[in-house]
Amino acid sequence: MKLTVEIDPRSGFCNGVVRAVQQAENYLQYSPRLYSLGAIVHNSVELERLKKKGLEIISIAEVAELHHDVILVRAHGEPPETYELARRNDIQVIDCTCPVVLRLQERVRATWQRLRESQGQIVIFGKKGHAEVNGLVGQTAGEALVIGSIAEIDAIDFSRPVALFSQTTKDPDEFRRLADCIRARRPDAEVYDTICRQVAQRHKSLVAFAESHSVILFVSGRESSNGKVLFDLCRSVNARTYWLENAAQIDFGWLKDGDSVGICGATSTPKWQLEEIFLYLQDVTKS
Ligand code: SF4
Repeated sequence: MKLTVEIDPRSGFCNGVVRAVQQAENYLQYSPRLYSLGAIVHNSVELERLKKKGLEIISIAEVAELHHDVILVRAHGEPPETYELARRNDIQVIDCTCPVVLRLQERVRATWQRLRESQGQIVIFGKKGHAEVNGLVGQTAGEALVIGSIAEIDAIDFSRPVALFSQTTKDPDEFRRLADCIRARRPDAEVYDTICRQVAQRHKSLVAFAESHSVILFVSGRESSNGKVLFDLCRSVNARTYWLENAAQIDFGWLKDGDSVGICGATSTPKWQLEEIFLYLQDVTKS
């Protein structure tokens, strides 16, 4: 079978994930083990690689059992209670919260404090229970309202002032539609587009990439919310888009002779994984 294969030049880890993984690997050069509070990246293949180096994922309940130890806080960030717990238990924190998320946490906290007098509500467009979203809700003493889609808009109390923020990896178009619906019911609503610029840029370039190939192999862990958003985006412009986690999952029934295959992934998909699939396809189609 003859195929032309290209890796999306913009795919690969985002800066926040690169930084967290680098810090974990630096630490593990001198220590046999490091606890990560939650998965450092939503990608089982990359997690397995880091596990072999000594990275161990633990839950917040397990952190409560630790004393005089070291934990890593991943790029998604954590609510203030986590840092208080670490202080109480004399745990050193390697804080890998992405600077973009850190700034967002500060904005959410400042806006919540400012709007308290006028009974204002902080609304976060995001996935309920997602670590980054939990970290944001934690800036408001648990008061922020999280909505995952426009369908949930009635949960907002429109008799009170509203300030809207977004989880950094949400779909920019959906955020704009949600903001329009909110402004239609509360024209003075404060709208803060806090989608990560790297993610927003990737949305634009990914559409062009998916349109320029006959087949798209989208590589991502199943738990990645950014993976779900970007996969749906590719699918919306190229019906022959397939989700996979590793080369072994490629179904050759997806491919036809002469296809131009595009390989891309989420912000939690390492470049080496895309390259592995590229080499695998080249190898198989050579023989
Ligand atoms: S997607 Fe953006 S905000 Fe989120 S971790 Fe990556 S660089 Fe940071």
